[in-house]
Amino acid sequence: MTHQPRKRFGQHFLADPGTVAKIVAAINPQPGDRMLEIGPGLGVLTRPLAERVGCLHAVEIDRDLAAHLSETFPHERLVVHVGDALKFDFAALGPGLRVVGNLPYNISTPLLFRLADVAATLVDLHLMLQREVVDRMAARPSTPQYGRLSVMLQYRFRIEKLFAVPPGAFRPPPRVDSAVVRLTPLSQPQPEARDVRMLGNVVTRAFTRRRKTLRNALSGMVDEALLASLEIEPGLRPENLAVADYVRISNRVSEATVRTPSSR
Ligand code: SAM
Repeated sequence: MTHQPRKRFGQHFLADPGTVAKIVAAINPQPGDRMLEIGPGLGVLTRPLAERVGCLHAVEIDRDLAAHLSETFPHERLVVHVGDALKFDFAALGPGLRVVGNLPYNISTPLLFRLADVAATLVDLHLMLQREVVDRMAARPSTPQYGRLSVMLQYRFRIEKLFAVPPGAFRPPPRVDSAVVRLTPLSQPQPEARDVRMLGNVVTRAFTRRRKTLRNALSGMVDEALLASLEIEPGLRPENLAVADYVRISNRVSEATVRTPSSR
């Protein structure tokens, strides 16, 4: 098939057999695995995966590529869902779903948040992403890369950066370096957030003002007394707090909200 890569769909096709083999080895697909590939493209990963698992699901937004894949693979080997992965009902294929993909980098952050929401239905994820995004996902506290993405994903997943992939492994080559990452859902986050949306609100607020002290970054939402009761120093910066600290803060805010419902 001759296909003109479409920039708007972030199309950079893997063209290096060694990288494909490394990704497949990292995934270690087993017969009978329930697996979904996001953005199969021309099918370079799709073929070795479908051969190993028996029947693979794939979601592809590009109608031409989706039609080509449906014609190339027998239906019992590959079920192609034509559409936007950001709107895909992952839970409908679960439980026990494995998700893989060389992701379109323009949608990677919202997609990661969507996948975090359904983490309980997933076995694992193996994703190719922009290397800088992988560094932020796996970042430890008190480093410049540590931020909202690190906290919200590390709350749900164990994150392992597996290997880097240079631009030359793709056609056309992207302008950035890439890396493959494995995410494994934690059986139970420790400590657990009473309300994950509240955790998201606190973390977003903190890192929107990451240069300020916690006292200032969270003012209006969290007061100093609350921080003191958790033995969290209000003069720290948002990047100094561990994931568990954010959970403890958000749980106190949730408790306070339940105790003093706002008057209508
Ligand atoms: N997996 C192929 C490979 O490794 O060569 C293609 C990878 S390419 C980086 C990303 C793929 O995701 C393209 O096939 C693109 O059409 C598809 N895609 C882009 N946006 C998408 C979306 N919102 N939902 C599903 N697929 C999408």
